[in-house]
Amino acid sequence: MPQLPTPEEMNVYQNAEARFEVAAQKLGLEQGIYKYLKYPSKEITLYIPVGLDNGALEVFTGYRVLHSTVRGPGKGGIRFAPDVSLDEVRALATWMTWKCAVVDIPFGGAKGGIICDPRKMSRGELERLTRRYTAELADWLGPERDIPAPDVGTGEQTMAWVMDTYSMHHRQATTAVVTGKPIELGGSRGRREATGRGVMICCDKALAKLGMKKEGTRVVIQGFGNVGSMAADLMQKAGYKIIGLADIGGGLYNENGFDVPKVIDWVSTQKKPLEDYPGGGTKMTARDVLFQPCDVVIPAAIENQITEKNASQVQAKIMCEGANGPTTWQADAIIDAKGVFTIPDILGNAGGVTVSYFEWVQDRQGFFWRESEVNERLLDVMENAFDAVVQYAEMHKVNNRIAAYMVAIDRVAKALKMRGIYA
Ligand code: NAD
Repeated sequence: MPQLPTPEEMNVYQNAEARFEVAAQKLGLEQGIYKYLKYPSKEITLYIPVGLDNGALEVFTGYRVLHSTVRGPGKGGIRFAPDVSLDEVRALATWMTWKCAVVDIPFGGAKGGIICDPRKMSRGELERLTRRYTAELADWLGPERDIPAPDVGTGEQTMAWVMDTYSMHHRQATTAVVTGKPIELGGSRGRREATGRGVMICCDKALAKLGMKKEGTRVVIQGFGNVGSMAADLMQKAGYKIIGLADIGGGLYNENGFDVPKVIDWVSTQKKPLEDYPGGGTKMTARDVLFQPCDVVIPAAIENQITEKNASQVQAKIMCEGANGPTTWQADAIIDAKGVFTIPDILGNAGGVTVSYFEWVQDRQGFFWRESEVNERLLDVMENAFDAVVQYAEMHKVNNRIAAYMVAIDRVAKALKMRGIYA
């Protein structure tokens, strides 16, 4: 029998809350500020009518949660998935607030989601769903209000539709209303690789911190979408050895290492299942791949993968979270006790929102940077954020995750106090 987490452990909002509570307590946050930061500032539920290709009318449920605009406009992706829930979107919005504060970019936190299965919908149906969702939110979104981006199940094309719909409603081309757009529409060079690159920068820093060499360092990655495949590709090019891969269909483990561009070609160009990749080594479940012998493990798929029940099986020395919320709060102590050097999601995957910030800046300037410039600035932001978190952890004797929350909450709380409460 697979060991499944308890329903409480599965609730990502409770996971986000639990870490917030610990960090807030350690910071000695005043009661009023604590309450202000604990709850989202707005939650919108939408019932979105869409005409399907077969002539039927379907009504989809969608959400947009704005957690905070204390440090700047809300920022956060839109997720299309069958198991989207308000609690999940709320957790993801909250994490965006902390993530933007950890990397010190002038955004608050937001997130959106629609309950749907994009793999079972036609391009036309997805376009109509995206446009109606955007139209319903036309007064809430905006470059100075709330700026969406892609997440699981959405991509550059979705963002192009959001940008166009918003622009039609506002009677002006407004590229800065979304990030993660195609380059032709004001997207940024380097955005596609940004989250994976940020993961690699954090792993490089962790290796240096632990006195480990990059060459031949064995890496396992769960998730082979935007984050996982880009991290795998960049890390292999940099000298790491990628020995485990997984996507929704299953996992593969091969001690000899994968030729990542060939796997990307197999999955993305040839549209074949990852688990059938020729010479892929031992087949296993997508979850089991996380617990194989390796030096670095990168959960880069979905939430709740490392739990109280299985955390003791992690064999890596470093865990860098590419996904949001892959580790439940009950698993934190087990991972700590094993001495795993953890790079928490709000730091590990912050490369994406950092380059989203660069995209927004470039759109507003109407002046676009070279890819080398984007990557150089990303390196600078990620290295500074990593150092801030690790130094804080050492100084205050907390783990890296709680340190990241404390750095973030402290920055938002300071900004909030300076602004004061408008009443
Ligand atoms: P994606 O849709 O491009 O890829 C998701 C990958 O996870 C796919 O390979 C899919 O097959 C796999 N997957 C889905 N369900 C799975 C399961 N049950 N078991 C194993 N694998 C499974 O999504 P993405 O953009 O790569 O995002 C992945 C994670 O990273 C999400 O948690 C997302 O919120 C987070 N994230 C993404 C970005 C970004 O820039 N794309 C930025 C920050 C955080």
